[in-house]
Amino acid sequence: MDHIRKTVIGGNWKMNLLPSEVSAYAEELKKYITDSENTVVFFAPPFVMLPIAVQSFKDTGIFVAAQNVSEHENGAFTGEVSASQLRDLGITHVIAGHSERRSIYGEADSAVNAKVLKILEHSMQPVLCVGESEEIRDSGKTEELIASQLKAALSGVSEDDITRVIIAYEPIWAIGTGRTATAVQAEEVCCFIRGVLAELYCEKANAVSIIYGGSMNADNASELLGAPNIDGGLIGGASLVPESFAKIINTANTSN
Ligand code: PEP
Repeated sequence: MDHIRKTVIGGNWKMNLLPSEVSAYAEELKKYITDSENTVVFFAPPFVMLPIAVQSFKDTGIFVAAQNVSEHENGAFTGEVSASQLRDLGITHVIAGHSERRSIYGEADSAVNAKVLKILEHSMQPVLCVGESEEIRDSGKTEELIASQLKAALSGVSEDDITRVIIAYEPIWAIGTGRTATAVQAEEVCCFIRGVLAELYCEKANAVSIIYGGSMNADNASELLGAPNIDGGLIGGASLVPESFAKIINTANTSN
């Protein structure tokens, strides 16, 4: 991998596990990770677990991320959580535009864009998710969709800020299905994403970490992470078990 880019491994717990399970998870994960020096590691538990997660991972080098954030600064938005609240807690990364947010909660590109800008404004790093459905792939429109999601979500992101954005390519047909994209399929789209970034940000595109997500696990991580434009992974199901998540992190450490 090009060493101007960081390898990034993120865990997305989605709406799983309990606050009372976080510290035991942290202890287990720390035990299994052999060396995370070359890799940025974060994990994103549900909002209610963020304080205990920040406490449990203090001084470990493992970052705690949020799965979502409000696009608004503050005020009468019942049920929402703001970027300043996350930042105040010690959160460093925030997932934006996950396909489950887009499809189940109707999050539009404009909202994803507002969230990305809000996350950057509050000195955190957005993990911007893009990805096509099976129908889009079958109709040959994957690149068109990815380019339009990227351009919309990055609108207003400056050249100085783009290297703080992590892009997660997550084909919807591979998320939670056990049907991983092949390394060739994933590399093809990640390479395309780098091309779109180059159109928008010239050589800065080479310093942006582009990660793959979609049924990545301890068995397939090595092949996926070996591809030149795949700089890491966003892991759902396999991040729930500390031993499996640690195996992926350890694989990343040896592939960069
Ligand atoms: C995800 O939700 O971002 C994800 C990649 O999930 P899974 O690894 O379970 O497919």
